[in-house]
Parts: sequence; C-alpha cells; structure tokens
Amino acid sequence: MSYFSHLECSVPCGRPALDPRDPHHLCACGAPLFARYDLVRARTWSRDSLKGREPTMWRYRELMPLFDDEEPVTLGEGFTPLLRARTLGARLGLDRLYIKDESLNPTNSFKARGLSAAITRAVSLGAKTIALPTAGNAGNAAAAYSAAAGLACEVFIPRDAKRPFIDECRLYGAHVTLVDGLITDAGRLAAERGRPLGWYDVSTLKEPYRIEGKKTMAYELAEQMDWRWPDWIVYPTGGGTGLIGMWKAFEEIERIGWVAPQRRPRMVSVQAEGCAPIVRAHQQGTEKTAPWEGAATLADGLRVPSPIGDVLILRALRESGGAAIAVSDTSMVDAMLAIGTDEGVSAAPEGGAALVAIERLVAAGSIKPSDSVVLFNTGGALKYLDVIT
Ligand SMILES: *Cc1c(COP(=O)(O)O)cnc(C)c1O
Repeated sequence: MSYFSHLECSVPCGRPALDPRDPHHLCACGAPLFARYDLVRARTWSRDSLKGREPTMWRYRELMPLFDDEEPVTLGEGFTPLLRARTLGARLGLDRLYIKDESLNPTNSFKARGLSAAITRAVSLGAKTIALPTAGNAGNAAAAYSAAAGLACEVFIPRDAKRPFIDECRLYGAHVTLVDGLITDAGRLAAERGRPLGWYDVSTLKEPYRIEGKKTMAYELAEQMDWRWPDWIVYPTGGGTGLIGMWKAFEEIERIGWVAPQRRPRMVSVQAEGCAPIVRAHQQGTEKTAPWEGAATLADGLRVPSPIGDVLILRALRESGGAAIAVSDTSMVDAMLAIGTDEGVSAAPEGGAALVAIERLVAAGSIKPSDSVVLFNTGGALKYLDVIT
C-alpha cells in the first residue's frame, strides 16, 4: 500500500502542501520540493515484507512516489551490491570498508535511480517529452528511461563532454543539443526551449522525484547492514541529490521504526579541487554556496558550480558531524586504478575521489580503524577509460 501523500517545501517555508497528482517543480519560494508520506500509518509496514521482493529500488515502493494504481518505469535499477573492500581496507587499516557499487545500475551510474523515479511520475502526469541539462550520466539515464516509457527525450549537454556520454544518449533515441558552456548554461537553454513546448524538465532538484529515487540508497544500506547505520558515508557530491535523499531517508526509516535509535552516519561530501563550492562554504561555515568561477574537473558529475540544493547539503553535513573534502584530478585517477586493481571494481573518477577522501580522513585520525565506512562508487569507469591511458 502506498503512503505517498503530498509535496512540501524542503526548507520548509510554510507554504501549504501541494498535490502530487498535479505537476510541480520548485516551491514558490525557489527551494526544492520534497515528497512526503504518511509515516504514522507507515509504521504498520513491516520490513519482513521485503523478503522475496524484486532486487530493485522499487522493493520500497510503499515509501516511493507511486500510487497504488501505478506501475514504475523500471530497468532493474538499485539494490546494488555492498562489497567488503578487504584489500583496500587492509591498506588503509580499516576492517570495515565497504563499496556501494552503483556502477552496476542501468546506464552505469546511480543516476538511473533518480531518473527511474522522475520518469515514472512524468508518465503519470501525462508528459510527452522529457528534457534536461546534463554533464553526462543523467542524460544517459534520462534517455534510457524515456525510451522505456515511450517518451521523447531532449538532452542538453556541454560540447566538451566525453564522447561516450553524447553517443549513449543517441543510442536510446534521445535528441542531443550540444551547448557551448557548462551545465548551468545547458540548463538555461533547456528551460528556454522547453517552456513554450511544454517539455517536462527533470533537472536535478527542479522536480521532487529524482531525490526519491536516490534516497533508496539509504534504505538499501540499512537492509544490507542488518538495520544498523555505518559510521561514515563518503559521497562524491555534484548537485548533492543522493546526499540530500539519504539524509531524508534516514529520518523516514527512523520514524517508521526500521532502525533503532542510534547515531546517524557522518556524511562526507567529496568534490574536485577545480569545482568545490560545497567544501568552501562548509569551511567558511556559511548556509549557502557562492558560485564557483571557472569550474574544471575531469569528474563530470562533480562539475556543478552552483548546486541548487546547497542549503540542504550543508545542513546534512553539519547535523551529521561530517566533513567536506576537495581532491585533485590526478589523485582521483590514481584512486580509480587502486579500486580496480585491489578490488576488481570499475570506478568512475567520482568513485576514485571518494577513496582519496577516505585516505585523508584516516590519515587525519578522523576515521578510526574500527569505524565502518561506505564508499559510494557512483558510476563505472567505462565512459572515462581515456583518463587512465
Ligand atoms: C551525477 C554524478 C555524481 C554527483 O551526484 P549528485 O547526487 O548530483 O551530487 C557523482 N558521481 C557520478 C558518477 C555522477 O554521474
């Protein structure tokens, strides 16, 4: 049974709840919207009911944005393995280092989760054309889920994006517009072109449902770790959808009683030295980020100079007692090789970045040898193999 009830401002600004049977993008105050559930009634939903369900993120459908008369648009996303990284762990002196391997999602990254949820709702809302700006992976996932749903897809991608990202959009029949500039410029163009044509915009956090897809990473961690939280979650952060989503999910999971009251994980945002607005704001102790000028990094997913969910990301870092760390592009590439060589896991530069951050936190004495640490490998290496040659 679905407990999905309404949408409300993520801040919250105090405006009245919105009906999810109508299309909504941002709150009138400009902040992202959150999907909300009847968590009081959801306390009767037992985690034992998960046994025997499909190993996808939709196994948590009661607390997903899906009404009882609807079916998800799915390609088998989610329920990715939580691997024990023994060799890397031994090297770092960590007994409990895990890799949440998101590279095994459809289209090779965790963007599949967000787009599966967003396009599921778009179908219910009667959308015909999906549109989005992307650094690469989100466009690939949007193109694939649009194809699965029988919708048209318009992708706006920086001209300097890597070839495999551009080609894969076309593989799924999307129409690709190459944009001179960054993802922010691509976003402006997508909105301008789409507004008169009624395109359904699935830009990060500009609609409420990509977060709901990504929050399932926290549900899976809880289930895979036998209903305990790890001590640390290390998350390569661009727009921060997954970090915001997991922080939201911790609260949902606690409120329905699936995890006994305990310290929540410390959240670590990892960014690139060439684009680190969250790291800078966290260090300065500000509520919001200032736009990062001249954003440059080979980790496309981290090239987000002005994350729209900055307030929510920074709040989660603070409330969790976490950290924010910027790493160099060369160290990310070395770490991709280390993850591949030691563990046989295909890591995107973003996954490599997470390993570099863990090394730093161990060296600084923040992460203790007995701590449990989850490295989010947010995507696979295949579309970036040129960086290791
Ligand atoms: C998009 C992306 C990220 C950043 O994800 P957010 O949740 O938007 O911060 C990290 N890694 C990869 C591989 C990505 O594609």
